[in-house]
Amino acid sequence: MKYFVVNWKANKNLTEVNYWINVFLKKYRPKNDIKVIICPPYPFLSFLSKKIKGYPNIFLGTQDISQFDNGPFTGEVTASMIADLAKYTIVGHSERRQYFLEDESIIEKKIKQAIKYKIEPILCIRNNQDKIFDEIKIVAYEPVFAIGSGDNEPPEQVFQFKNRLNLPNKVIFLYGGSVNEFNAKDYLKEGIDGLLIGTASLNPIQLLKIIG
Ligand code: PEP
Repeated sequence: MKYFVVNWKANKNLTEVNYWINVFLKKYRPKNDIKVIICPPYPFLSFLSKKIKGYPNIFLGTQDISQFDNGPFTGEVTASMIADLAKYTIVGHSERRQYFLEDESIIEKKIKQAIKYKIEPILCIRNNQDKIFDEIKIVAYEPVFAIGSGDNEPPEQVFQFKNRLNLPNKVIFLYGGSVNEFNAKDYLKEGIDGLLIGTASLNPIQLLKIIG
């Protein structure tokens, strides 16, 4: 099984989302051995969940999740709110760690909230110093220098990094950082279980080429 996690970050409005998903679904050919996990900004989850209904192997995820359960936390979007819409959530993205000062204790709370509501956390790590919590089944290695820079970490190096982590066999290992239609296949050949795609996923045609 190969995973393609689509991270639009803080991009797109409803018109653009509508265009993206229509183009994508028109050309998308489902395969048994791939999973596409689209992680839009929260406001588009409900709209997209209706659009993808009936299309095999496409799932929704979120780019983040609250560390809190429902309650007096103005502005938060909790696991309980997204549980009916999303099967996955990204947790610990380096942009959240950097701009929102998320530390390991916050990330741990987010993971616990996700699991409580049966949402699968996809934990992003920047390097081998970032903690991989015991509950985690999907890890995405995203070296900071490679994110959005066009400077992807070569597949052999990513594979070596994966080996050094000594993850339990059942843990799914993804790579993210300037993946595009030209380099994607090299990671998948190298024994990486899937890709987390930011910039290139903003264009549905580019994403389809990456998925292959
Ligand atoms: C990301 O931020 O998760 C990411 C992989 O971005 P990009 O593909 O743009 O490097």
